[in-house]
Amino acid sequence: MQPRRKTKSVQVGPLVIGGNHPISIQSMTTSDTRDKAATLEQIRQLSAAGCEIVRLAVPDGEAADNLAYFCKNSNVPLVADIHFDYHLALTAIEAGISKLRINPGNIGGPDRVNLVARKAKERQIPIPIRIGVNAGSLEKDLLANFGGPTPEAMVESALRHIRLLEAVEFFDIVVSLKASSVPATIEAYQLLAQQCDYPFHIGITEAGTWFKGSIRSAVGLGALLWEGLGDTLRVSLTGDPVREVAVGQDILQALQLRSFGATVVSCPTCGRCQINLESLAFQVEQLAAAVHQPLKIAVMGCAVNGPGEAREADLGVAGGKGEGLIFRKGEIIKKVPEDQIIAALKEELEKLVPGD
Ligand code: SF4
Repeated sequence: MQPRRKTKSVQVGPLVIGGNHPISIQSMTTSDTRDKAATLEQIRQLSAAGCEIVRLAVPDGEAADNLAYFCKNSNVPLVADIHFDYHLALTAIEAGISKLRINPGNIGGPDRVNLVARKAKERQIPIPIRIGVNAGSLEKDLLANFGGPTPEAMVESALRHIRLLEAVEFFDIVVSLKASSVPATIEAYQLLAQQCDYPFHIGITEAGTWFKGSIRSAVGLGALLWEGLGDTLRVSLTGDPVREVAVGQDILQALQLRSFGATVVSCPTCGRCQINLESLAFQVEQLAAAVHQPLKIAVMGCAVNGPGEAREADLGVAGGKGEGLIFRKGEIIKKVPEDQIIAALKEELEKLVPGD
């Protein structure tokens, strides 16, 4: 894996994005931001799932007027996502928002950019601005010059927005370059990494529903993170955003960039397996969800190869005929009937991580 790209740090409420700070996980509410109760409930669900930054769409004044309430009641920093209307950005800053997502080139000229940037800097902790370039909404002249929404066109768009902020001496910037094409997204970030040191918010946009979207996000974000690119991430999935958080955590954990608890590995099974391993693996995943230590738990289909193949696991089970062999670091420690496997694993986990 490449060393992480050296980036500037920006403060988002109590969190820092960039530098050597942990790669944070964000998501976005899908509720109508004008609906106070539904939106606050979703912010809480996301936060409980481990989401570290929550973004809200702010389409109009009514939504903007609710931001102060959300900021006051949220235990995670909030980002206001605003398109075109600089008034909404000013209201969001006054409401105590921790970050803005707005493209300065779209808010109607240098005076307005200056106004928003000045107000964002006035706060004790300056409010960072994320420039969010999206391949689907690039400027017309860039599309014409580059022959379409190419990675180069996306980078040029980002640089234009960056220059507008730098011209008013605003440097608390985060940049994202999202496309639904995985290769185009990767290439765009690679190109921009050579031209600035602002932290990157990474994501694959319009990735799809849970299964396909998770795969496309894992491939795209995994490739970027492997190259050291990415300071905060959002997995975009059609559906409940709480799922985005789990997928983001698994991507970071798979690359060993962060640890969110135990890792469960399970074998694909083969003709030697004599127990219902899929059901067992799901149950072990549920059990492991409550473990906060970076343990490795193996769920293997047979006693012949299981304990040996999963030698490095802290704890494991290998299936026999109607029974399970519980093992630690490849050594079998007990044999239990199939219906007692979960209870036995639970008991062993409590010994390994007392009180977790
Ligand atoms: S652990 Fe056993 S059941 Fe699972 S794949 Fe290996 S040989 Fe097959």
